Amino acid sequence: MPYRGRLAPSPTGFLHRGHARTFWLAQQRAAGGTLILRNDDLDRARVRPEFVDAMFEDMRWLGLRWSEGPDVGGPHAPYTQSERLSLYRASFERLKAAGFLFPCICSRKDVLTAAGAPHDSEDEPVYPGTCRARRDHPLDVNWRFRVPDGETLVFTDGHFGEQRAIAGVDFGDFLVWRKDDLPSYQLACVVDDALMRITEVVRGADLIASTFRQILLFRALGWTAPAFYHCPLVLDETGKRLAKRDASTTLRGLRAAGWTAGQILREPTA
Ligand code: GLU
Repeated sequence: MPYRGRLAPSPTGFLHRGHARTFWLAQQRAAGGTLILRNDDLDRARVRPEFVDAMFEDMRWLGLRWSEGPDVGGPHAPYTQSERLSLYRASFERLKAAGFLFPCICSRKDVLTAAGAPHDSEDEPVYPGTCRARRDHPLDVNWRFRVPDGETLVFTDGHFGEQRAIAGVDFGDFLVWRKDDLPSYQLACVVDDALMRITEVVRGADLIASTFRQILLFRALGWTAPAFYHCPLVLDETGKRLAKRDASTTLRGLRAAGWTAGQILREPTA
């Protein structure tokens, strides 16, 4: 199968050195195949038009090139998630009709409170099951995927090797459709990776926990999951993850300070 990879930035801030490393690696792995740019712009509260423009400019400045995307077109257009809502909705309806989902009226706070102990992981707490048996529900609710409790999910990561998680223990019932009538990241990502015929997903290691959820969605929708390659996260001098709001690590900040693209790519801890 010819290699098809994707770059999937979210225009919720300026791209930083971590994105540069991940996208560069994604481009290298796609050498000889096809690389797609997808604009993950579903976070309505945080997406801003100036971040979309900056995203394209920074990626091109860095030396990234793609052959399908919002700005170049291609057979799987559109490539901007907010223009693909009907595709996500169709998969949501299919999952709902097949009984994989349940309506949930819990707020984020309800879930955190029910989880009890302070939560130190970056991942959301395991859903306590409050609404699992719910049949009646108000119109605007979240829809969650009921995970197969106790099942061990395994995949072989291209970088980190074998990864395992137990459904219902390491992660719980997760959001598929939100009460503001938008798909969750997990659903939109799976639908796009399937319909765009992505053969390998290259992204940051912070999304390994999402991969287990996505594997369940691929399976429920009757699709073969792509291969996964997670990149080690770039940390700052204090060992913290980089944030899009920290100007000293954004590509534009570094560029303004005189860095070249080559220097940024060679010096992960610049
Ligand atoms: N858009 C996501 C992000 O910027 C990445 C999605 C993915 O690669 O699956 O964090």
